[in-house]
Order: sequence, then structure tokens, then C-alpha cells
Amino acid sequence: MWNKQRPRSGLLIVISGPSGSGKTSVIKVLCESDPRLALSISATTRSSRQNEIDGVNYHFLSVSEFEDLIQQDGFLEWAKYGEHYYGTLKSEVESPMAEGKDLILEIDVQGAMQLKELDFRSIFIFILPPSSAILEKRLCGRKTESDQELQQRLQAARSEVASIKNYDYCVINPDDDIDHAVKQIRYIISAEKCRMDNQLLESVVQEFSPTS
Ligand code: 5GP
Repeated sequence: MWNKQRPRSGLLIVISGPSGSGKTSVIKVLCESDPRLALSISATTRSSRQNEIDGVNYHFLSVSEFEDLIQQDGFLEWAKYGEHYYGTLKSEVESPMAEGKDLILEIDVQGAMQLKELDFRSIFIFILPPSSAILEKRLCGRKTESDQELQQRLQAARSEVASIKNYDYCVINPDDDIDHAVKQIRYIISAEKCRMDNQLLESVVQEFSPTS
């Protein structure tokens, strides 16, 4: 098939949402159910939580390791969230994109805005809980933060939601049906694959232009 012989470059799928939106769980189910999706593993200087594994959930770095990588231009984007650094390593993005894979980046709004300035084929999706009361309940319930960090995250959540206007899509993640959000993101990706752009136009023209 002509469109298989001339594959388009991979899509960068940027997903943000406040802590407590459930985005990590949604992304986990999404990636497990579709082998064509790769997940970028971010670097961070925050300490690992129980059940988090270095190199699987994050690349856990010291502050000096992270700052050295900033100096060496090793990040596609990076930001400070609360007290800690978070960033997308160029090395995580380069090979899946070269292979034409679609890559999911779970990053905060500051990082997402940096990526908007770069020339990638990308979509920006914001995940929200069904209400602010549910957000608060989820954040308090998971008990992974100190009281002070919890207050900071609640504050950050409110200012992050204000950035939603810069995103292409908003997906609600209900309490009892993770598959709902997963399906919505799948539909968004499918629609994006059909979007007309110069690359698609060029392959269509090459395939279907009348021969002289
Ligand atoms: P957490 O500490 O809960 O894992 O993540 C805190 C925030 O950092 C979340 O909003 C998460 O999306 C964001 N984050 C995770 N990885 C990255 C990254 O590579 N870059 C940026 N800018 N934010 C990230």
C-alpha cells in the first residue's frame, strides 16, 4: 500500500494534567494496549516513591547530574516543578522518532510550552479529573507527599489548569472508568494520523499524479 511504503514521521503525543488527574495510570493502560506507542522516560531529581524503579518510571538523577545534562544540551525540554527538576532527555526521543514510532511524553505545562516552539509533528492533550473536589480527594488519598508538598501540588494544579487553553484536546478521566479516557486518547491519535499536512500531501501527489 502506498502509505505503508512512504511512512510519515512519528507523532509526539504530549500529555499533561494536574497531579491527581490520573494521567500516569491512563498512559500506562494506553501504552500496554498499543505496541506502536513508545513512552519517553523522563529524568528527575525527586526521590523515587515506593514501587518506582529507576529507568522504568523515571531516570532518577542527582541535582548535579541533572545540571550537567542541562549544560551539555541533553534535554529536549526541562522545567522545575516544585523543588525538583524534571526533563525529557533527547536520547529518549531521537531513536523512536527516527523509527517513525509515536512517542508519549507525560510532562508538565512548562515543558509542553517549550515543545510547542519546536518543529515536531505533535498533539497536546490535557487530562482532567471530573471535578476539583475529586482532584483534592485523589491527591490527599494517595499519601505520597508531605503536607507541605500536598499544598504546593494543589496550588500547582490550579495554575496548571489555567494553561489548558494552550492544548489541542481536553480528556476527562472519570473515577471508575479508566478505559473511557484511554479510548478518547486513542480516537484523538487516530484522527491526528489522518490530518492533512505537507508530508501526507507529497506522498498522495507522488502516488496519484497522472503520468505523462
Ligand atoms: P510526579 O512527581 O508526580 O511524578 O510529577 C510531577 C510533574 O512533573 C507532573 O506534572 C509530571 O507530568 C511532570 N513531569 C514528569 N516528567 C516530566 C518531564 O520530563 N518534563 C517536564 N517538564 N515535566 C515532567
